[in-house]
Amino acid sequence: MNPINNLIRGNKLFRKYHFEDFKDDLHELINNGQKPEVLFISCCDSRITTDFMIGSKPGDLFTLRNIGNFVPPYSADGDFHGNASAIEYAVSVLKVSNIIVCGHSHCGACQSLYEDIPNTDDYINIRKWLELGKEAKDMTLENKHLYKNKQDLYKATEKNSIICQLKNLLTYPAIKRKVLTKEITIHGWYYNLIDGSIEFYDQENKKYKDINEYR
Ligand SMILES: [Zn+2]
Repeated sequence: MNPINNLIRGNKLFRKYHFEDFKDDLHELINNGQKPEVLFISCCDSRITTDFMIGSKPGDLFTLRNIGNFVPPYSADGDFHGNASAIEYAVSVLKVSNIIVCGHSHCGACQSLYEDIPNTDDYINIRKWLELGKEAKDMTLENKHLYKNKQDLYKATEKNSIICQLKNLLTYPAIKRKVLTKEITIHGWYYNLIDGSIEFYDQENKKYKDINEYR
């Protein structure tokens, strides 16, 4: 079936079988405005299906997706910053109390940090954007001896990148302030495409743990 027709069919099924479940809540959110408690930053990767993964419903998450789930550091240079403005909106307008940076296994963005990106106009923005993964790559290569193969190296890069992006979140003055006053908690999650499991980064002990150990 044509992929667009597939989506149209999907919408028909959604309206028939699922929309009713959300209807009342959605109408309330329309009347009173959205009030999500979580800003969820994840990768554009088509295999990341946020609402399926964690059972979130309309109104639960304010979502920002980009290549590699990167967080560009705060910059007040007056340029067009789509990612930063989404973060600002979540923090300053919606006043979310949690920010989750959710990386994932088999991330093409992290893998491409080890590949040559063509230096042509067709890739100019990707090349620039991937600079946001450089710190994670450097961090990973410092312990290169620990990784048996490329897959292990990529996995470590994906996990280190989440840590770097959490650090970048703190370059936003409003986030830094609200983390200090405990109005905002930041979380690093790692989603495994193989089995759908999630690990979280224990910031105190500096290691990843199964999400079921989260307290
Ligand atoms: Zn990815």
